[in-house]
Amino acid sequence: MSAPLAHPAPLDVERLRRDFPILSQRVRNKPLVYLDNGATTQKPQSVIDALVGYYTTENANIHRGVHYLSQQATFAYERTRGRIRRFLNAADNSEIVFVRGTTEGINLVAQSFARPRLHEGDEIIVSQMEHHSNIVPWQMVCAERGARLRVIPVDDAGELILEEYEKLLNPRTKLVAVAHASNVLGTINPVARITALAHQHGVPVLVDGAQGIPHLPADVRELGCDFYVFSGHKIFGPTGIGVLYGRRELLESMPPYQGGGSMIVKVSFEGTTYAELPNRFEAGTPHIAGAIGLEAAIDYLNEAGQERLAAYETELLGYATQALSQVKGLRVFGTARDKVGVLSFAMESAHPHDIGTVLDSEGIAIRAGHHCAQPLMQRYGVPAMARASLAFYNTREEIDALVDALLKVNEVFA
Ligand SMILES: *Cc1c(COP(=O)(O)O)cnc(C)c1O
Repeated sequence: MSAPLAHPAPLDVERLRRDFPILSQRVRNKPLVYLDNGATTQKPQSVIDALVGYYTTENANIHRGVHYLSQQATFAYERTRGRIRRFLNAADNSEIVFVRGTTEGINLVAQSFARPRLHEGDEIIVSQMEHHSNIVPWQMVCAERGARLRVIPVDDAGELILEEYEKLLNPRTKLVAVAHASNVLGTINPVARITALAHQHGVPVLVDGAQGIPHLPADVRELGCDFYVFSGHKIFGPTGIGVLYGRRELLESMPPYQGGGSMIVKVSFEGTTYAELPNRFEAGTPHIAGAIGLEAAIDYLNEAGQERLAAYETELLGYATQALSQVKGLRVFGTARDKVGVLSFAMESAHPHDIGTVLDSEGIAIRAGHHCAQPLMQRYGVPAMARASLAFYNTREEIDALVDALLKVNEVFA
């Protein structure tokens, strides 16, 4: 990572925006206002160039080839692994496993780590604010093994109730799986504290970093977690590539998730010897271009300075929160002290989908629905929410446009 600046210059957002070609588009004859970054982020030109460059000059399969291009591709793919290790401050490249995304990373841990360890009556702890990706894979292995899920409740502000969490930890607990930050409430969870408490009981912790790492530096050794997963496409990289970080001892104790090429040392019909870490978990041809694009995304973040981007975003979130509070009949969900740039809300005048439709006609992209967090919708007693989710390339002018459009919603549905 680049060294933190003693006196960081203020962020030149207009300059950063020019790095993202899609942002200068007009949509529905209005300037695009992209506020759906929680679903996926836009890509800087450097990421697009990395993808095109790979396919233009380097494309070959990795690991197997003796020829020049294959060596180039292998080198680039493995260099990316090293970049990610440094980005996460992991101890070793072998702890970085390429997967398709957060969902696949969690399923890998559920199947290869949790499943063999779960017995009748065992428990896995998740929280009420989890994305379905951090609920369903655990439910599947629990159902198979006669184990059950326990749930850390969320208070009205959208914070985890840690006293309740402490009560849930017991000798039957086999794993804790929590989000670094909520995709609905924006809450940044106290992961280091959650991990420390779990470790007092000898329980490993998986962190769903899908919404953490786009907004916050994630140092796996500082967080103390055993697994950390994230998706490339939510951190300005390509879709179809993601990362599972796992502590070496744990990954070493796990059987492969999928069988196939690249994950073996030797195969015969009598039996197969599996490859070392991390190849053991990377069966088949991986998303080589995706990994290289992800490297470009991480380079972009490092160059811009992740702390500086986060500081700007926090300020923009404050501005947006204040601005939304001026819209009559609008209720914001999630008022935690520590938040990333996510604003979920409902309005008295209109259903979230109608809000989304009116906003779309103004060129404003938000998300409306259950946000893959139906248990959390139940917690707040609503079927759906509208969500504006920010990135560092969003501006105050865009927030003003959002507010104007929400005032229009009130007029249309008055
Ligand atoms: C998006 C998201 C996921 C799932 O990520 P995929 O890229 O769809 O695999 C999981 N958890 C959270 C908190 C998310 O925001």
